[in-house]
Amino acid sequence: TAFSTLNLKPELLSNLSSLGYEAMTPIQAQSLPYILAGKDVIAQGKTGSGKTAAFGLGLLDHLNVKRFRVQSLVLCPTRELADQVAKEIRKLARAIHNIKVLTLCGGMPFGPQIGSLEHGAHIIVGTPGRVEEHVRKGNLNLDDLNMLILDEADRMLEMGFQDALDEIIDAAPERRQTLLFSATYPKQIESIAKRIMYKPVMAKV
Ligand code: AMP
Repeated sequence: TAFSTLNLKPELLSNLSSLGYEAMTPIQAQSLPYILAGKDVIAQGKTGSGKTAAFGLGLLDHLNVKRFRVQSLVLCPTRELADQVAKEIRKLARAIHNIKVLTLCGGMPFGPQIGSLEHGAHIIVGTPGRVEEHVRKGNLNLDDLNMLILDEADRMLEMGFQDALDEIIDAAPERRQTLLFSATYPKQIESIAKRIMYKPVMAKV
């Protein structure tokens, strides 16, 4: 299915064709219509499936650039994945001017991240431990967050990020859209989904 069948912002659509993205991958075709409709979505997809563009286009479509507040938060298990996700989001956002994507990962110096947060961002991509620390210390305010994305949720739980995730979710507004991507769907993910999502749609490929 072509991206042009979706009701995406025109600047996102034209950028997709300049990137050479024409047909949606299966996970995109299964999830994007629901994501764009504002529904909570659980999607099973691995790296290489095009999952980053599925949630990336969703968050960019919902974003208001004129409002310079953190509107989307993407949580990833590792710094490598967070960097990759931020890079893909910047690529998808090329046609939206002045958009600020900030990565906040553990293992990186803390001080410069505070400075970047003071400058502001629309989108944060990070690892749960470090993001939770910034929330707890009052450096990162999530009052305007309207989209929360858990990428590779199963790996985040395996790595022991459950408590950090819970703290972040507690600090996020209840009225928000939540997307959960996971390669596997064990009981632990099912129970977290039950707690943090509202009537989720299952997109399986
Ligand atoms: P991901 O699974 O998100 O890591 O994406 C895998 C690769 O596929 C990335 O390099 C994307 O840039 C690329 N990609 C994602 N969606 C599409 C698409 N619909 N058409 C062509 N390439 C895509």
